[in-house]
Amino acid sequence: MRTADIRQRWLDYFGSKDHELVPSAPLVSPDPSILFTIAGMVPFIPYILGTEPAPWPRAASVQKCIRTNDIENVGRTTRHGTFFQMNGNFSFGDYFKTGAIEFAWELLTTAQEQGGYGFDGDRLWVTLWNEDHESYEALTRGVGLDPKHIVRLPRHENFWDTGQPGPAGPCAEWHYDRGPKYGPDAVGGDVDPGGDRYLEIWNLVFDQFVRGEGAGKDYPLLGELEHKSIDTGAGLERIAFLLQGKENMYEIDEVFPVISTVEELTGRRYGANPEDDVRMRVVADHVRSALMVIGDGVRPSNEGRGYVLRRLIRRAVRAVRLLGYDAEALPALLPVSMDAMKASYPELETGFARISDVAYGEEEAFRRTLAAGTTILDVAVGKAKAQAGAQAPVLRGAEAFQLHDTYGFPIDLTLEMAAEQGVQVDEKAFRELMAEQKQRARADALAKKTGHADLRAYEGIQSELAGPVEFLGYTHTDSAV
Ligand code: ATP
Ligand code: MG
Ligand code: MG
Ligand code: MG
Repeated sequence: MRTADIRQRWLDYFGSKDHELVPSAPLVSPDPSILFTIAGMVPFIPYILGTEPAPWPRAASVQKCIRTNDIENVGRTTRHGTFFQMNGNFSFGDYFKTGAIEFAWELLTTAQEQGGYGFDGDRLWVTLWNEDHESYEALTRGVGLDPKHIVRLPRHENFWDTGQPGPAGPCAEWHYDRGPKYGPDAVGGDVDPGGDRYLEIWNLVFDQFVRGEGAGKDYPLLGELEHKSIDTGAGLERIAFLLQGKENMYEIDEVFPVISTVEELTGRRYGANPEDDVRMRVVADHVRSALMVIGDGVRPSNEGRGYVLRRLIRRAVRAVRLLGYDAEALPALLPVSMDAMKASYPELETGFARISDVAYGEEEAFRRTLAAGTTILDVAVGKAKAQAGAQAPVLRGAEAFQLHDTYGFPIDLTLEMAAEQGVQVDEKAFRELMAEQKQRARADALAKKTGHADLRAYEGIQSELAGPVEFLGYTHTDSAV
């Protein structure tokens, strides 16, 4: 089944169960406290918190999500995308635990010819809060899940809340057992959610209690909510990689074509070398994520969402370079990603001229930055190594500062590129220099006002200009550090 069909099947199923089908909210979060939409429930927060009445008792969606906290996992685990799609079904004071468990079981285990996903029920495992007897009954006596496949966990492992007094409740997380090839049996009931064998596919959150004050999960439960809600999230890409018989979410139809193109560009083969494989998966993830983020109106910049986008593009471009391809990469990769995504998001095709302009422009700018600073960085790294002796090599803060100030290398780029060569950066000294620079700028502004010019900054520029390097400090400032 194509990912687009799995997505549609979700909507068809919950539509047939009287859910209002709500289109995805944009990636730019409708909730101002977060940059990006990170879960399917985000657009429904007021209905879940009860601050606004829900317009419908039941809803379902396939929500576009970005999770920047998963970026470091991308390409290394089987299951984390920066961009991904979260299938969700929601009940606002309507059905509760038993209903949600019955829907999940039916959709997952009904044969594909009958409109389900056709998973073998004997491969499903569920983690529950150890005091959640209602869900336990619904799972065992209700839908017939093997009681040995239920893992009961204490509150700190399996409880949702907003971090403050208000609604809270237990979760039921569904996992798929990929088989002994991927790890040991869950003897004694530990499904090792971080491992490869038991893949978390669907989280059901039962919004049941009113919680009081308390740190972490150590708060009292004051009673049951008057309007209980259901909020669920299932990873579309995770379901897709299982149903498509792939090893991970980067190999599904919506992602893998970019990896194939990277193979063609670089002449390297996916599956031949683990380090290259990670890079190829990072490229595919980041290109797709950038496509979706630009599609929703974000432009590269030095802060907030724009900076996340900038980093995605830069990391993708650098990963392709590290795979041995030096020419412009996005004009070859972005159209491939758009083609793979357009079945579910036709607006990517109609808006592609605008989207690609933004992406290609950013790649060009970054290529200029790299051309200006890479040699300087390599020299500094070489020096750090030579001076290190028996100690771990450290690049001086002053050099990181020069790279930032003169060549437009943001500190995270310097950190990443130095780390690739086994060198750390004295970030503390770098930040002190940044603070001093800010201080100087303030003093200059003050001097201008009072008419007493401080010429130190000007002298600095003079000596740069006298040197053999091109001064790029004005056009390439990357102030997000
Ligand atoms: P994990 O433990 O694997 O990081 P999670 O517990 O953080 O997942 P939830 O917050 O429970 O995930 O989100 C609901 C569902 O969304 C998950 O069960 C999973 O199927 C999917 N999901 C979460 N994060 C990602 C991601 N970065 N990429 C792809 N799918 C994801
Ligand atoms: Mg997670
Ligand atoms: Mg989890
Ligand atoms: Mg979860």
